[in-house]
Amino acid sequence: MGKILGIIGGGQLGMMLTEAAKRMPEEISKVIVLDPTKNCPATQVGAEQIISDFKDAKSIHELAQKSDIITYEIESGNSDVLKSVQGMAEVSPSPESLRIIQDKLLQKRFLSENQIPISEFIQVDSINDLAQGLAKFGYPALLKARRDAYDGRGNFKINSSKDVQEAFDYFNGQNLMLEKFVQFKKEVSVIVGRNTKGQIKTFPLVENIHENNILRETIAPARVSEEISNQAEEIAKKTITVLKGAGVFGIEMFVTFENDILVNEIAPRVHNSGHHTLQSSETSQFDQHLRAILGLELGGVKLLHPTVMFNILGPKDFEGEYMPIKISEENVFLKMYGKKISKPLRKLGHLNVVGNPGESIDYLLQKLESLKEKVRVIPST
Ligand code: ATP
Ligand code: MG
Repeated sequence: MGKILGIIGGGQLGMMLTEAAKRMPEEISKVIVLDPTKNCPATQVGAEQIISDFKDAKSIHELAQKSDIITYEIESGNSDVLKSVQGMAEVSPSPESLRIIQDKLLQKRFLSENQIPISEFIQVDSINDLAQGLAKFGYPALLKARRDAYDGRGNFKINSSKDVQEAFDYFNGQNLMLEKFVQFKKEVSVIVGRNTKGQIKTFPLVENIHENNILRETIAPARVSEEISNQAEEIAKKTITVLKGAGVFGIEMFVTFENDILVNEIAPRVHNSGHHTLQSSETSQFDQHLRAILGLELGGVKLLHPTVMFNILGPKDFEGEYMPIKISEENVFLKMYGKKISKPLRKLGHLNVVGNPGESIDYLLQKLESLKEKVRVIPST
């Protein structure tokens, strides 16, 4: 008999996990997501839904009662409640890892204690702490909300002493931390999975291009030396080794101009920079996550085709319904997330441009440029 999978969050990641679950009907018979938005993306591919806030204790209990295994697609779940329902359903990755990761300050302390290279940071509880941190790190520096941030929405870059008060006020009393700004050459990431039996596999290193703190493109494989990609994979393995729990983790890193690698942050879940694996790799990150939490042998992680992934984001100046996006091109795979309403910089879908043997990354990037107009989000009238 297949197991019932509960997922905290039913957005695009929950949607693609649900689709992966449907590819293994013997192992998973049903998916239930907990999400506050009615008709969230995961329900559109067959998941049942409990409509509720991600952190609501009663609803998490209900989900645990109905499920055999619980996982999550977002970091902002309630780790205490998830811990308390572990007797009712298996929770993967472990709520303890979630508790550490969901607070950026605890996460950075944890990484530092485990000798994983990161940028310097301090806790900020007052404007005085902030001033002290800036005196230590210099400008620019990044002030970050410790919790509930995503797509860079919890970051404020402080460029000079003129920005200090505005930055502090911007967060309106939230718990904060300050980080030294890393002058990086590239941003890269590794998707690493561990199953319940301890088997670990890392997908090859990819390169991420952000604009305004939000991921725009992923290039697989990363255009870096073999030495750097090996080093990054080692860091990812070390990171997952010190963290508890089964599942797939996204490890975001910076490569500096001195070729040092610093971890930016860990996502205890499938990750946007792993969407290329849907078409490029032996196993997709979504299948791998399910294999990991079910205790199955992990799938192969070989990159079969170089691939460029492009995020389709809502235009900055528009909120509302938009024209359907369709594209029909060889080796181009469009995935829309079924979100009816576009909002500024909201992730509405992605495009994977998959390479044939012999096609270079430069060629794929050019091809992507020629396709961007076709996947532009246009308001419907
Ligand atoms: P996401 O949901 O996209 O992972 P987030 O809201 O959790 O984002 P971070 O990952 O902390 O935020 O930061 C978003 C982006 O801001 C990073 O990918 C990077 O481009 C930039 N950034 C974050 N920290 C630093 C830093 N210390 N130095 C330089 N750039 C940084
Ligand atoms: Mg990040």
